[in-house]
Amino acid sequence: AKGMGKGGWQRYQSDLASSMVQRLELRTQLYEAVEDEQFILQFQPIVELADQRVTGVEALVRWQHPTRGLLSPFHFVEAAEENGAIVGIGNWVLREALRQIAAWKAGDPGTTLRYVSVNVSPLQFRTSDFVAQVREALEDAGARPEWLLLEITESLVLKDAEKVIRDLRALRAMGVRVAIDDFGTGYSSLSYLRQMPVDVLKLDKSFIDDILTSRQQHALVDAIVTLAENLDLAVVAEGIEEAGQWHALDTMGCRYGQGYHFAKPLWPADIPALTAGLAEP
Ligand code: C2E
Ligand code: CA
Ligand code: CA
Ligand code: CA
Repeated sequence: AKGMGKGGWQRYQSDLASSMVQRLELRTQLYEAVEDEQFILQFQPIVELADQRVTGVEALVRWQHPTRGLLSPFHFVEAAEENGAIVGIGNWVLREALRQIAAWKAGDPGTTLRYVSVNVSPLQFRTSDFVAQVREALEDAGARPEWLLLEITESLVLKDAEKVIRDLRALRAMGVRVAIDDFGTGYSSLSYLRQMPVDVLKLDKSFIDDILTSRQQHALVDAIVTLAENLDLAVVAEGIEEAGQWHALDTMGCRYGQGYHFAKPLWPADIPALTAGLAEP
């Protein structure tokens, strides 16, 4: 390319090769990482837009790699989905998230925290005993089903919709709630909503980014919020970074939000101060 001398090109090529080697290496280490429980969770607050009260937290996994330090999901979730390690990772995340919310609830009976939200990969959801895994994880943690929100993606429903819908019904019958994550990035979107047994819609950050600068985008999000409301779905707007976006969404009638404007993903020890119940007089 122009501006890239011969040395630059060679450096680019060797960087590329070494990053591919690194990716391959990471991929082969994933199963061992599951075995050794090298993962850790951060939690990002989900707030009520009207008053910024923290009502939930989303569990976000990180890999404590023995030599490379803390790795974000960007570095390994895709590979883990490809080689199947995501099933073990996801099951660990589910159990750990439930253990954590049970501890927070026990530590502060007046906590504003109602639930923990857990990402479930399509592969994990499709394992034959996923519903049983959830039931067992709840029991082992001593957690109530209402404390759990499972985040699934639209792509899950495109294949084998009947079995997926059956399992979603079973989970909801238990009292577990289900959210469609990254809503707006898939294809099915609006037409699927009606048939999907879900409780919550998470509007993807890419939808929120332009609501202040694009009248069309604003109108689109407003319409989705209104539609969701009429279908009895709660809406969580993701990736709110500015006060203006917060106020616009609040005005549209969107009830919940998440984003750096309110809080970044935090370590577990930082959550109780944000969710402390009002002291009894
Ligand atoms: P996601 O489910 O859409 O999660 C939200 C991501 O956006 C998180 O990134 C969060 O840190 C980031 N985020 C939140 N608010 C803002 C904001 O205001 N601005 C910007 N720029 N970013 C924001 P993270 O933790 O790196 O996770 C990335 C993705 O990895 C997640 O996207 C999710 O798809 C996946 N992931 C994370 N944890 C798990 C897990 O336990 N299981 C599975 N299957 N996937 C996971
Ligand atoms: Ca999510
Ligand atoms: Ca997203
Ligand atoms: Ca509205």
